[in-house]
Amino acid sequence: MKYVICVPDGCADEPLDALGGRTPLEAASMPTLDRLAARGEVGRAAVIPPKMPPGSDVGNMSILGYDPGRYHTGRAPIEAAALGLRLRPDQIAYRCNLVEVGADGTMVDFAGGHPSSEDAARVIGALDDALGRGAGAEVEFHAGVQYRHIVVAPESWGDATCTPPHDLTGKPAMLPRGSAAPRLIDLMDASRAIVGPSDLGANQVWLWGQGHQPDLPSFSDATGRTGALVTAVDLIRGLGVLTGMEIVEVPGATGWFDTDYEGKRDAALRTLAEGADVFLLHVEATDEAGHAGDLDEKVKALEAWDSRILEGLVEGLDDLGPWRMLLLPDHPTPVELRTHTSDSVPYLLVDSEIDGPGGVYSEPATAGCDAVPGHEMLGRLLAR
Ligand SMILES: [Zn+2]
Repeated sequence: MKYVICVPDGCADEPLDALGGRTPLEAASMPTLDRLAARGEVGRAAVIPPKMPPGSDVGNMSILGYDPGRYHTGRAPIEAAALGLRLRPDQIAYRCNLVEVGADGTMVDFAGGHPSSEDAARVIGALDDALGRGAGAEVEFHAGVQYRHIVVAPESWGDATCTPPHDLTGKPAMLPRGSAAPRLIDLMDASRAIVGPSDLGANQVWLWGQGHQPDLPSFSDATGRTGALVTAVDLIRGLGVLTGMEIVEVPGATGWFDTDYEGKRDAALRTLAEGADVFLLHVEATDEAGHAGDLDEKVKALEAWDSRILEGLVEGLDDLGPWRMLLLPDHPTPVELRTHTSDSVPYLLVDSEIDGPGGVYSEPATAGCDAVPGHEMLGRLLAR
């Protein structure tokens, strides 16, 4: 049996006037998904446990079968693992966004104009020289992907309540609170002298998502099966590193609208054919469309999922033998809100050999279902 987990990041949404009261999932032309839902099982999954932040770290931890209430320590330490950083027990990691904050204190762009990783790395290097290791300071700047970077700090820097910058778009940039807040604010202020004059669309860093390195049992110990994944996003790569999954590289995977959908599909089929039992295929484009408030791109990304991934994936899986598929996002990212919500999400479970009750994969069609705790969905996928 082969198992595929499909994660269209943030794809769940809300009914929109611009779509005649339909959601993007309802409006997008997705004939393969429709066929799979008609012979599978649809329902609701609570991928974000009550009172936890609705981040991709929490949602994807659930999807991989780990209860975030038990294992989640913060978002940044997961992304730090993706960069190969091993935190000492007396260290924490902060996520360090390159952002643009306007002169009036508004969070203009949580993604700092979407710099290339190369351009951003030069600025992060300059920050480490001026404010980090180069200056003998107790913090370290580590370059990551595009606008997403890491600061490693002593654990005494951890006592702060920080706001994710993507929750502040167009709003006042709310500063950290707590005993460590003054140090964080000083560092963010000091970063302006280095980031501001650079050629990036960012003018400072923004620190959030801190925590110690989490202690996750390996995926193979937890499930008795080997796992692999493809993603362009650091924190999902980090979950793979922390759980001992194989990380498959696809050169055209960008984390943006132009990502190589077919490359990810083919990587899934190739890796499963080579012996992996479980493959998680993640695409970020639907989430970025939600953050951008771009309805057209969200529908296009969903249609690309169908025509450029699911259609060929199902054909390829049929050639490999019996298979089961779980499809669900890690949280909703409604285009009108432009940020994540904690609502439960629709899931689809399909078995190539056993027909389910059948249904429609959409938010309204599953609205009446009782939500299953998200971390129990993997067990349901692997139940046969
Ligand atoms: Zn996400």
